[in-house]
Amino acid sequence: MMSRYAVFGNPIAHSKSPLIHRAFAEQLGDSLSYEARLAPADDFAGGWAEFVVEGGLGANVTMPFKEQAYRLVDVLSPRAQRSCAVNTLLLGKNGQVYGDTTDGVGLVRDLERIQAPLAGARILVLGAGGAVRGVLEPLLAKQPVALIIANRTAAKASGLAADFADLAVDGTSLSGGSFEEIEGHFDLVINGTSASLGGELPPLPQALFTPQALAYDMMYSAEPTVFMRWAADRGARSEDGLGMLVEQAAESYFLWRHKRPDTAPVALMLRQLLMA
Ligand code: NDP
Repeated sequence: MMSRYAVFGNPIAHSKSPLIHRAFAEQLGDSLSYEARLAPADDFAGGWAEFVVEGGLGANVTMPFKEQAYRLVDVLSPRAQRSCAVNTLLLGKNGQVYGDTTDGVGLVRDLERIQAPLAGARILVLGAGGAVRGVLEPLLAKQPVALIIANRTAAKASGLAADFADLAVDGTSLSGGSFEEIEGHFDLVINGTSASLGGELPPLPQALFTPQALAYDMMYSAEPTVFMRWAADRGARSEDGLGMLVEQAAESYFLWRHKRPDTAPVALMLRQLLMA
């Protein structure tokens, strides 16, 4: 029987995950099916249970289900526990449900691909929602000299900094606050707010970037986002989150299939589709 996987979300029709995973499977000669499944906003558990009865072996989980998935699983990976979110489900042989999050590793792999400054760098992260919570651990593991979290609701940024303080070792300074409190220049600025979705830009100081700085927007689109354009106008290199999307998918694929897809051709295919 063909192995079955899916992505759950609400809405889900826009999801690129089926395209990505089918391309991985083709590349690796795997016979599997991967479908987009809509679950009721308040009943992710019901949607997952139905899928398992139909033979589902694993799933990706996107908005708004990452926290519901976190509460559903029997066994959480340490990184999912930290993130309080699950984006990958795997059904164990004993029927137990294993939950992991691959967003953080996806971001860092993409940052490494584009040679972003990480070790010893000054990093600014904008936003303090689920996506940012998921990327702090692997970012801190790269040992930046400073990691500042800035958010519209400042208390959420300072709360995140407190939650991850034990991981800021070896001289990394970690703090959180409002956009208005941002001070100094940064080698890497990551936009993890959803402001770009509405074409908005957080209020940022004009002199934000060091000369070789990189601006990374977790959102992706056919056109550069407003944050990317703002950064480019101030001399920074800029990149969107399409690579992160493909890398997090590759890590999920690895959890399910124990094989690593080559992400570059799949990212290229997706970019071409987006631009078409
Ligand atoms: P959440 O809803 O959990 O958090 C949203 C964050 O954005 C909050 O910090 C919120 O601030 C802030 N925000 C929203 N609107 C504005 C605004 N107009 N100005 C300033 N700040 C604003 O969302 P997620 O964390 O799940 O997702 C954030 C972004 O990351 C999305 O664009 C999403 O598409 C992207 N993403 C990309 C992935 C990829 O693979 N490329 C993976 C996961 C996410 P406040 O706390 O004050 O409300």
